[in-house]
Amino acid sequence: VKEAGRNGCEFFTHEMQARSARHLRIVTALRQAIEGQQLSVVYQPQMSLKDGSLVGAEALLRWTHPELGFISPAEFIPIAESSGLIVPVGGWVLRKAVRQAVAWRAAGGAPLRMAVNLSAAQFRHADLSAMVGHILQEEGLHPGELELELTEGAVAQKPQQAIDVMNGLRAQGIHLAIDDFGTGYSSMSYLKKFNAHKLKIDQSFVRDISRDADDRAIVTAVIEMAKRLNMTTIAEGVETAEQLAFLQKHGCDQIQGYIYSKPLTPSDFEAFARQPPQL
Ligand code: C2E
Ligand code: CA
Ligand code: CA
Ligand code: CA
Repeated sequence: VKEAGRNGCEFFTHEMQARSARHLRIVTALRQAIEGQQLSVVYQPQMSLKDGSLVGAEALLRWTHPELGFISPAEFIPIAESSGLIVPVGGWVLRKAVRQAVAWRAAGGAPLRMAVNLSAAQFRHADLSAMVGHILQEEGLHPGELELELTEGAVAQKPQQAIDVMNGLRAQGIHLAIDDFGTGYSSMSYLKKFNAHKLKIDQSFVRDISRDADDRAIVTAVIEMAKRLNMTTIAEGVETAEQLAFLQKHGCDQIQGYIYSKPLTPSDFEAFARQPPQL
């Protein structure tokens, strides 16, 4: 028993060491990723449930390292956040996505709103609002064509500062969306203060809609509440026709999910936009 216990302990230590070694490796590699052109952005379609039209795109970061290979954002984004690297990386994504939106508009497609994720560390910069304004001006995108996605976590740490930054962004005409809605612990109290345009219903509530009556109750209540607050609703992670039908029936405005498309490279997105599937 003692032996096994010690082995268990050693195993644990090895695993921890391996994990922190990888963590360090990722921090070092991420510093070089931007210059090394290892980062790219993919775009996931956002569809209207009213008429099935394409209304927007969410920009999602991808990283392929020459030796480590594909690294999931679920792994490297938290590391980028804790190391502060998310500030330059997030700034890069924002400019890239804004530039892409300008290119698509110039190509004469239907008007789209480009959604970009912002993390807490970016949000803590007091001049975020001015920084975003500069990028829009330099690249020539109308503020109403940009939507910034914020999680409750990003705003929870310094709520008053967050509200000021959000008001600054909003005053410029930039759209704001609350991401992963319902997964935080203070959702309700923040909703009113944050004054966002859009609420993204987290995929954890959407996933079991067909099986779980509680999830159905939560989703319908969230849609109803958002309507009364004059917010647009979008459901994330929609994969099945059953989920789509439920959301449509209960008045959800938009969906994003594999049922229409996974995130796409710019050229694949263009092909999608030319002929959005009729579901
Ligand atoms: P998120 O912002 O909640 O983005 C949605 C995630 O759900 C994406 O994962 C997307 O590929 C995935 N997804 C979309 N539709 C479906 C579906 O139907 N089923 C399932 N199972 N998944 C679906 P991804 O691209 O791996 O990104 C994971 C997270 O990493 C994002 O979650 C976001 O929190 C973060 N992230 C990605 N790019 C950025 C970025 O540029 N900046 C920041 N701050 N965070 C980012
Ligand atoms: Ca998001
Ligand atoms: Ca989300
Ligand atoms: Ca998420």
